[in-house]
Amino acid sequence: MDLGIKGRTAIVCAASKGLGKATAMALADAGVAVTICARGVEALESTAAEIRARSGVTVTTVACDVTTDAGRAALLAACPAPDILINNAGGPPPGDFKNFSLEDWRKAVESNMISPISLIHSTVYGMMERGFGRIVNITSGSVKAPLPEIELSNGARAGLTGAVATLARRSVARNVTINGLLPGPFNTDRLIANAQKRAAATGLTFDEVQAQQRAAHPANRFGDPSEFGHTAAFLCSVHAGFITGQNIMMDGGKFGGLL
Ligand code: NAP
Repeated sequence: MDLGIKGRTAIVCAASKGLGKATAMALADAGVAVTICARGVEALESTAAEIRARSGVTVTTVACDVTTDAGRAALLAACPAPDILINNAGGPPPGDFKNFSLEDWRKAVESNMISPISLIHSTVYGMMERGFGRIVNITSGSVKAPLPEIELSNGARAGLTGAVATLARRSVARNVTINGLLPGPFNTDRLIANAQKRAAATGLTFDEVQAQQRAAHPANRFGDPSEFGHTAAFLCSVHAGFITGQNIMMDGGKFGGLL
């Protein structure tokens, strides 16, 4: 399918690995020039080279922490008027509500709520003026089905979701959509690191932990980041202009609710 976005520009946050990288690749495959960021330069440059070699689009790299004011300023200096914005960052650490300090909460809200809101605020009005824009917030399945031990994530991501819900219904008249894409378990470094931690805590082997996790999932497998990237790219396509304000669960059927 031609996504109809060839020649457009995109900022893809946190995109040297995992879901951000897969989204940048799918957008680049559709002919979009991408500006990607991550904190670590080596993986960022290697991903940029991989995307350039594969799709031939312009790839601009910004080594920065997107959760900081300076990081976002650098990103916007490299791509001041994107047609597409993919909000993404690492998630807050897991733990027990009892032990989270106010500082932990402030950090989670700053990283996973205020930071994406800030990038949306900086870009959405230009998109509306130009009559095209697509914003996808990579959040988490925990927005619809809050999970134990990740209360920091549950709270901050739900805050972002609520914060843009009415804006998404205003911007759509100017052909600017804002949606959340909510990953379940995808096979990324993050998922591997979590399984390694679980193995260390339980005495099971890494393979045993992953086998248990797969068996407990309706699809009996983890998601492939490429599936996620292509879905995000579709939400950025010309064909998705009538989808806005939605929070789309992408978890292989794990969430059992109707809506
Ligand atoms: P990942 O494989 O660990 O990749 C994270 C990417 O984000 C890396 O490129 C990392 O590079 C970059 N990054 C992290 N923090 C950053 C920051 N502050 N500024 C700039 N770049 C940053 O993670 P993932 O699995 O793709 O997860 C992406 C998001 O989806 C996370 O918020 C995660 O919590 C959420 N999520 C993932 C899953 C899943 O199953 N994978 C499920 C639910 C939710 P650097 O470290 O070099 O900065």
